[in-house]
Order: sequence, then C-alpha cells, then structure tokens
Amino acid sequence: MSRHNITTPDHRPTHTVEDYLMTMHVMERDYGEIVAARLAEMLGVTPATVAMTFKRMERDNWITGKGRKSVRLTETGRAAAHSVTRRHMLTEWLLLKILKVDLPLIHDEAHGIEHALSPHLEERLLDVLGDPQVCPHGNPLPGHEHVVSNWIPLTELSTRERVVIRRIHEFAEENADLLNFLIENGVLPGAEVLVGEILPFNQTMTIEMEGETKGETEGEMAGRQITLGFPAARYIFAERRASA
Ligand SMILES: [Zn+2]
Ligand SMILES: [Zn+2]
Repeated sequence: MSRHNITTPDHRPTHTVEDYLMTMHVMERDYGEIVAARLAEMLGVTPATVAMTFKRMERDNWITGKGRKSVRLTETGRAAAHSVTRRHMLTEWLLLKILKVDLPLIHDEAHGIEHALSPHLEERLLDVLGDPQVCPHGNPLPGHEHVVSNWIPLTELSTRERVVIRRIHEFAEENADLLNFLIENGVLPGAEVLVGEILPFNQTMTIEMEGETKGETEGEMAGRQITLGFPAARYIFAERRASA
C-alpha cells in the first residue's frame, strides 16, 4: 500500500482503453450511467468503433453489460479508470506548474504522457505537487469528489449573485474552442464573477468579471461581460461568495 493510499491495478489496459475508461469514470461519477452514443461523441469516434471497443473491453473484464444501451465498469475497470484519471490530472499539474506549459495546451498534452507514467512517478508527483484534490480545471481526483459537491453549475444561479468560478467540467475541457474562449476571457478557477442577465428563451446568460482576474490576453478582465450559452454554462461550476 502506498503512502498516498492509492491503488494501482496489476496490469494496465491499452492507451485507447484507458481513454475510454477515463471518460466512463466521468459519466458514471456525474451522470450515473455510461451511454455509448455520448461516449462516441466525447471521444470523437463513430458508434461502430465504440461498439467494437466495448466488445474487447468486456472480453478483458473492464466493463459489463455490452449490447444494452448502457454499460457498467467492473471493479477492475473502475480501479483502472481511477488510476488513469489520477495520472491524467497529476500530469496536467506537472505540465502547468513545473514545465510551465500554457494552460490551453495541458489537457491535450497530458494525454500523451499519462499512459506512460509508472506508479513510482505517480507517487513522486503526488509528493512534489502536495497531494492535489482537483486538477487545474477544478475537477476532482478520484476519492476527492466531496471537494466539488457544493459547487453549482452557472445555469442554477440567479441574476446579481456573486460567485467564484471553481470548476470547468471535463466535458468542456474536451471542447478546445470552448476551453480557449474561457481561458482568453479569464473564466477559470478562482475568477470572481457577478451573474448578469439570464435569458431562458434565448438559452444564454451573461456574467461580468470582477476583481483582479487576469485572462490570457493582455489587460484586466474586470468589467468584462461574457455571454455564455446554457450548454456551456452547465459545464462551469461556481461557489457563492458571502455578499458584502
Ligand atoms: Zn489519454
Ligand atoms: Zn483538468
């Protein structure tokens, strides 16, 4: 047993299967089920490819229930999913904090490294990084889900509420255009925001940047108004600030 109380599966799946497992972990964690069609969309592959990979994954005991609309992770599959998710998130921190890679690049770059990380390096990263509970985008490392449980999707807030952005969901991380837009505008964990106009008939809401928030582009973000569609706003989580 490691000092960090993490478990490492005896053998690892292929890179492709690991990427499937990571996305499945997110679906199971946040939506309670793994839907093949959604998985195909998230991974940018066809439903036929997912069906084929499911076949192999069930043969190798990572998942069960293939052929139905949704599948489940086996115990072995879940352990492997947690392992790769943790490695992905630690790699993101390694890239950002130690290698000083730009924030827009770390999610994709991490995919190239996470699969090769040995249990020894994983332990070293946990030590050096001080046991982070969330990734740089605010998503929880497996076992730390409670940290994010009080953060609310922007779509559930009301006009005039003052909040701090805490989390950009993994499914938004996968959308490079959306992620770049958020980074450019400083909509990142730690940013202070005032909720502006909410227009349900238009499926949009506006937020106003407050405080010292800095975006990737030059200059202060304070006062900047940003309009988000509900589908994107649903993937951004915030914490209410005590009103002054
Ligand atoms: Zn990957
Ligand atoms: Zn992340």
